[in-house]
Amino acid sequence: VLCAAQDFDFFYFVQQWPGSFCDTKQSCCYPTTGKPAADFGIHGLWPNYKDGSYPSNCDPNNPFDQSQISDLISRMQQEWPTLACPSSSGIAFWTHEWDKHGTCSESAINQHSYFAAALDLKKKTNLLQALQQAGIEPNGESYTLANIKEGVKDAIGYTPYIECNVDESGNSQLYQVYFCVDTNGSDLIECPVFPHGKCGSSIEFPTF
Ligand code: 5GP
Ligand code: 5GP
Ligand code: 5GP
Repeated sequence: VLCAAQDFDFFYFVQQWPGSFCDTKQSCCYPTTGKPAADFGIHGLWPNYKDGSYPSNCDPNNPFDQSQISDLISRMQQEWPTLACPSSSGIAFWTHEWDKHGTCSESAINQHSYFAAALDLKKKTNLLQALQQAGIEPNGESYTLANIKEGVKDAIGYTPYIECNVDESGNSQLYQVYFCVDTNGSDLIECPVFPHGKCGSSIEFPTF
C-alpha cells in the first residue's frame, strides 16, 4: 500500500492562559463576542519536524474558508478566542493560524478536520482541570516548573512543554502549554522534541 508523503512529523497543540496574555505590558482586548471563560484557550495546532524546525505558510491556494467550518464557529468562539488588539471576532486569528500552520498539514487532514481536531484536543486534555487536580490554581500563586509538568503528566499521561512570559512587574508566569499530537491530529504522543525557552524558578499562575 502506498501512503501519501507526510511533510511534517507531528503537531504541537498549543493552549494559552488568557490571564497571562492580558497582564503583560502589551495588554489585550476581549473578542467582540465578550470576555472569554476563565479557561485555557486554543492558540494553534502547529505542524513540526522532529529536528525542531517547522514548515509555515505552505499553500496560498488553500486559504481559510469560513464556509467549510460554519458548524464549528460557535465552539471556536468559546474555545479559541482571540485576545489581540484591536478587538475582533476571531476570524483574523483563525485565518492566521490556518494560513501559517494549517496549510502545512493539508496532506494529512482537511480544513474542517484541522479545526475540529483542535477543538477535540482541548476537550480531551481538559488542561485546567488537570492542573487543579494537582493543586495548581489560577489564583496568583506561584509553582515550580517541575510541579506544573508533573501535575499535568499525572492527570493527562503526557509531559507538556511549558512556555512562560512576564507580567508587568517582571514575574515569570504560566503562558502557554504544548502537547504533541500524531499527524492525524487525534492522539497525544510524547514529544519528539521540545521548544526552547526559559521559565523562572517560581512561576505565577495569574487569575483571569
Ligand atoms: P514566538 O516567537 O512568539 O515564540 O512565536 C511566534 C510564532 O512562531 C508562534 O505563534 C508560532 O506561530 C510560531 N512558532 C514558534 N515556535 C514554534 C515551534 O516550535 N513550532 C512551530 N510549528 N511554530 C512555532
Ligand atoms: P503565531 O504566529 O504565533 O501562531 O500567532 C500569533 C499571531 O496571532 C500574532 O500575529 C497575533 O497578533 C495573532 N493573535 C490574535 N489573537 C491572538 C491571541 O489570542 N493570542 C496570540 N498569542 N496571538 C494572537
Ligand atoms: P531537562 O531536559 O533536564 O528536563 O531540562 C533542561 C532544561 O530545560 C532546564 O533548564 C529546564 O529548566 C528546561 N526545561 C525543561 N522542561 C521545560 C519546560 O517545559 N519549559 C521550559 N521553559 N523549560 C523547560
